[in-house]
Amino acid sequence: MKKTLYFLLFLVFFNGFSQDKKFQGQAPITIVPTTSLPVQKQWKGEYTFENPDITFSNDFDGARLNGIVKNDDGSFTALITSENTPVNPSPWYAFKVWSKSPRTIEVMLTYQQGAKHRYFPKLSMDGLRWTPIDLTDYKEYEKGAADFGAGSLPVKVRLKLNVGQTPLWVAGQELQTLKHMKDWIDEISNKKFVNQQVIGKSTEGRDMHVMTIGKEKRKQMVMVISRQHPPEVTGFLAMKSFIETIASESRLAKKFRKKFTVHVVPLMNPDGVDNGHWRHSKGGIDLNRDWSNFNQPETRAVRDFMEDRVATTNGKFYFGIDFHSTWDDIYYTVDPKLKGNMPGLVTDWLTAVKKELPNYEPNIKPNDELIPTAVSRNYFFIAHGAEALVFEVGDNTPRDFLHEKAVVSANELMRLLLER
Ligand SMILES: [Zn+2]
Repeated sequence: MKKTLYFLLFLVFFNGFSQDKKFQGQAPITIVPTTSLPVQKQWKGEYTFENPDITFSNDFDGARLNGIVKNDDGSFTALITSENTPVNPSPWYAFKVWSKSPRTIEVMLTYQQGAKHRYFPKLSMDGLRWTPIDLTDYKEYEKGAADFGAGSLPVKVRLKLNVGQTPLWVAGQELQTLKHMKDWIDEISNKKFVNQQVIGKSTEGRDMHVMTIGKEKRKQMVMVISRQHPPEVTGFLAMKSFIETIASESRLAKKFRKKFTVHVVPLMNPDGVDNGHWRHSKGGIDLNRDWSNFNQPETRAVRDFMEDRVATTNGKFYFGIDFHSTWDDIYYTVDPKLKGNMPGLVTDWLTAVKKELPNYEPNIKPNDELIPTAVSRNYFFIAHGAEALVFEVGDNTPRDFLHEKAVVSANELMRLLLER
């Protein structure tokens, strides 16, 4: 009897404990003006030091390194700053470094006032294949005590880097620029049932791409977007696996494509990504606050595209999903008591995903305050009746699990949409 009591107490304690540890989600959306604001253009080029001969470069798309100095002890201090302020705490960094002869250098990453180090460093020798830095080469300073959020972060970190003549790439996440995205959609567009088009230009004149899987004229449509926020690479990676599953040769995918057409905007913020922004567009705005005002060309292009598809096909969007990254995996859904074009779809879907992924407990935060629409999910639901959600992937979610979850999610979604 006593043993059972202890066990029950343990369960109560353990559950309470694990719930405290769970990411509680971000604070409610703040409605802000979305007319363009000035953005600081990053100086691009090479920083070269002598004795020893070391060069740092931010001269590539997606780079962010705002300054670097050599200290008296031979180590380096890098400064990383944002495109403008105020800005969410997601300090993106990416640079290359090389030296004439092989050596080990130490680089301290520091940030502008109020910002802390967030993204665990990834290294690459070719800009394509990335591995996290070895823990023994990484040291944190003044780390916060919280489990999640800015309060959990160190103020600065020191990296030990082995450099030689071949440039070493250092970045907050795997580098995924407009060029990487275009290569990806070009490859998928080789399939005869996939097409791509440009639906507009960003503030700085980059193309806004849409990839369409399935017949263009079909009335039953799904909308997928990703990367409104430049550093949110894990959400982008999940979107890729999700879309690859829908465009695959599986029996389910083939059957699905006979009934539904999926439109994808894989890169909502090409200027922000290629300029190495922390969060905003070249208009200096969080694009995911502009889905009621539509002051920015990027959100306008997608709104006009969706309205055009509805007008041209006389059809409907049944489902809309926006991929992001945050501190931990979480789904921001529309409160199930609000009914769109397929009531219950998102609830059934997340239940099915949980069933297929043992030991996975989805963290779901429903929302019923959808007006003003401001964010994409609310626009999908309010303007189109699409059952909608934000699919957030943790910054540090293991990449194999991220992939597995996206594949299961795509399969379960196709199955449920076909059943209805
Ligand atoms: Zn985001």
